[in-house]
Formats: sequence, C-alpha cells, structure tokens
Amino acid sequence: MNPKFVMAAALAAAAIAPAWSQPAQRPMFATTKVEGTDNVYVFRYGNHQSMFVVTSQGVIATDPISYGRPQAAVTYIEEIRKVTDKPIKYLIYSHHHYDHIAGGQPFRDAGAKILAHKKARERLAVLQDPATPLPDETMDKKKTLKLGDTTLELSYLGLNHSDSSLVMRLPKEKVLFVVDFIPVGSVPGRGMIDFYPLEAEQSIKQVLAMDWKTLIPGHPGPGDRLGTKQDAQDQLIFLQDASAAVKTAAREGKCWEPAEKEVKLPKYEKWPGYENNLQFVTRRYCGLWGRGT
Ligand SMILES: [Zn+2]
Repeated sequence: MNPKFVMAAALAAAAIAPAWSQPAQRPMFATTKVEGTDNVYVFRYGNHQSMFVVTSQGVIATDPISYGRPQAAVTYIEEIRKVTDKPIKYLIYSHHHYDHIAGGQPFRDAGAKILAHKKARERLAVLQDPATPLPDETMDKKKTLKLGDTTLELSYLGLNHSDSSLVMRLPKEKVLFVVDFIPVGSVPGRGMIDFYPLEAEQSIKQVLAMDWKTLIPGHPGPGDRLGTKQDAQDQLIFLQDASAAVKTAAREGKCWEPAEKEVKLPKYEKWPGYENNLQFVTRRYCGLWGRGT
C-alpha cells in the first residue's frame, strides 16, 4: 500500500476515534414522551427518572427525584408546565428511598396530593427529613386511581427491592413504572443493602404475569432505553444465577470476603455496572446463604 495513503488513513482514524469512544454530552435533564402513547412522559434528571401522566382532569406525577438537589423538583414542574397547564393532582412515591422521593415539597405547594405505600409513610415519619414531605394518603395492597380519561393501577406485591415498592400500571397504555427492583439491562449495586432476595424473585414473577409492554425504570436503561418483558425476565434470571453462585460459595465457607472477590458471572460482564456492582450483589446473597438473613 502507498505509504502516503496509510498515513492519511491513520490520521483520519485518529481524528474520528475520540468522537466514537466518548458518549455525546448529555443534558442534565430531559422530558420524553413514551412511544405509542399520547400522554405518558418520562422526566429524567441526571441518572434518575420518573413517569408523569397528563389527563383531561390534571396531572399524575411520580417520584420528585430531588435528593440533595432541590432544583430538580422545580425543573420537573417546569417541564410538566411546558406540556400542560392542567393542575398537578397527585405525586406518587414509588418506594421510600430518598434518591427517588426526597424533595417533593414544590409539588405539595403546587397542590398535589402525595400518595405512597403505608410502609413508606411509617419509615419517612421516623426520619423527619424536612426536605421530604410525608404522604397525605397511603395504601396497602391495591388502589385504582382514575383521573379524567386515565386509569392508573397501583399494586404492592410484597417485599422486593424495599418493603414499600409500588408497581404503577397504566392498563390502557400497557405501560409500567417500576423503580429499582427490575433494573433494565444492568447489574444492581449499593441498593442491594436492604433488598429481599427470595421475595424479590416472587415479585418479578408477578410483574411478568401482568399485562404490559413497556417498562419505565427509575434509572435509565443502556442508551436511555425503556424496558420490555424480556428485560424483566433477564433480571430474574440474573438474580437466580447470582443466588445460586453465592449459595455454592457460602457452603464452602467463603462469605463474606473471599466470595465478594471470587464470585464471577461472566454471562453478564457486558451489562453496565458489572465490574463495580457485582460485589454488592454477592454481599447481599452472602447475607442470605452465609448467614441466614
Ligand atoms: Zn431504591
């Protein structure tokens, strides 16, 4: 090959490579309409996201996602205002974890009624965080919210990622908003600390039995994509694989430290979070199989 051509090709490759290897700069927040619907939106701020639904009688918002960043809730409301001038009637907490539900006061100031599972209210009442308003209304196993032309079904499926997680389902739109207990295409991490391993599998099976097509997760999936039933199925199998691997290690006396170093699940090494998070998954399953809790 002509050496001049080789040189030119190498220079061209060098000029192009950085653009390929670095992801495009992502804005701090974004509001996106869910494909196939005309009134369901995802509001993302940093690496957290929430669903909001615009109905003929007002807006149903979820998770304020403003932990340590009160401006996120203000931006969230401004983003809703760009879509509709209808009142924000409800703010629903997906579960009690602060990274999703802290900072909801601006929604209450805007007149929204805050709704959560009863266990979330109990936990938040003890903590008395001034940035995190308590729910006005709580529920136990099931509640159907009707606002204008929209029906939103709220279900508590028992223990899983937390003891207060709600599954929010829009039956007509076949959309589901589920936070943290079914991550889309990624390995869960520090959130495993108060995770209920065996019960979580049962919850995911119940979610799989429901009628839905699109899953909005509480953290964006790879490339900001939403999830499908396949993702829920994959997460279930991931948990089962992790559980089985740690069970073996635990019975060899390897919990905690040797297991945290040695347990590998190469099948999932391409999933975001694999390198950094697998140790937290192993630690939680060591709690189960190597300790009994
Ligand atoms: Zn959580």
